[in-house]
Amino acid sequence: MSARVLDGQAVAAALRASVLPDVQRFTAQAGRSPGLGIVLVGEDPASEVYVRNKVRAGTESGLRVDLERLPATATLDDLVGLVHRLNQSDDHDGILVQSPLPAAMGKGASQQVFDTIDPAKDVDGFHPINVGRLVQGRAHLVPCTPSGVIEMLVRNDIRIGGARAVVIGRSEIVGKPMAMLLLQRDATVTICHSKTADLPAVAATADILIAAIGRPGFVTPVFVKPGAAVIDVGTTPVSDAAVVRRLFGDASPRVGALERRGSIVVGDVHPAVAERAGALSPVPGGVGPLTIAMLLKNTVTAAVARRSA
Ligand code: NAP
Repeated sequence: MSARVLDGQAVAAALRASVLPDVQRFTAQAGRSPGLGIVLVGEDPASEVYVRNKVRAGTESGLRVDLERLPATATLDDLVGLVHRLNQSDDHDGILVQSPLPAAMGKGASQQVFDTIDPAKDVDGFHPINVGRLVQGRAHLVPCTPSGVIEMLVRNDIRIGGARAVVIGRSEIVGKPMAMLLLQRDATVTICHSKTADLPAVAATADILIAAIGRPGFVTPVFVKPGAAVIDVGTTPVSDAAVVRRLFGDASPRVGALERRGSIVVGDVHPAVAERAGALSPVPGGVGPLTIAMLLKNTVTAAVARRSA
């Protein structure tokens, strides 16, 4: 039996429609649109695509979205200076600095930048104040990808309360906040990582399995309890035809897509999992659109809160 497909585009469209009246109300009252500043450092091809999609989605939803670019040679000081400028700007309610930053900026650069963003404008929810609020269950701005996953589960009637949830990945931006949100909705949560012993057996206890690793096709059917809901957060660009053929088979349309485009985005979940899971989010078209929809929602939340502060 093939898993039910969890259509991220459909959930994202519903979310964006639900945000629209708030955008219109804010714009009428404030005399300007909710404003989002997106900072992109360098020209990473995947980041270019993500940022383009965020700008387009925001603009289509009536937001003002300004893309601020810095060259790959920019210093951390340059970036921090730009974030300070956006912190001061009355026109920007939200600030997003696209990850990853160039490696040359150093290991702790991302955290330093997150620490610099005004918590009231932190639409990614990565500032320590917002992380603390999330842990305490009184979050104002919640990281977009994990909150998008929650929307996907809830809107597809997948029971979270009482379920066993396993999150593979413990990053600050996906794995940890994901686990927190599931816990707050009364799941029994296990977080796995690269040092977890017997990972497939732990994963196979899950009613809800979330893969956020960044390893194409890593989660094979042995990781999956029959009938489980499997959410694939992973998005890795793959340009090696042998890898694509091995994962999807020679006859797959994805092989043709790779030949046309030179690279395709592949999730962490092996396609064969569709025969074992009860529900599965696809890549692309699963979590990605939800991340963007939650970004728009957070921007409007930040705009309304700043206006009434
Ligand atoms: P990350 O910071 O690189 O973290 C990856 C996590 O996976 C780490 O906790 C790591 O464990 C764990 N891991 C790596 N190899 C593993 C293995 N063999 N077994 C078990 N765990 C392993 O990545 P991230 O930022 O969380 O992103 C994860 C994936 O989600 C990436 O593909 C990213 O592109 C994607 N993503 C998608 C969206 C979206 O909107 N769809 C948004 C954000 C991220 P250790 O901590 O032990 O190293």
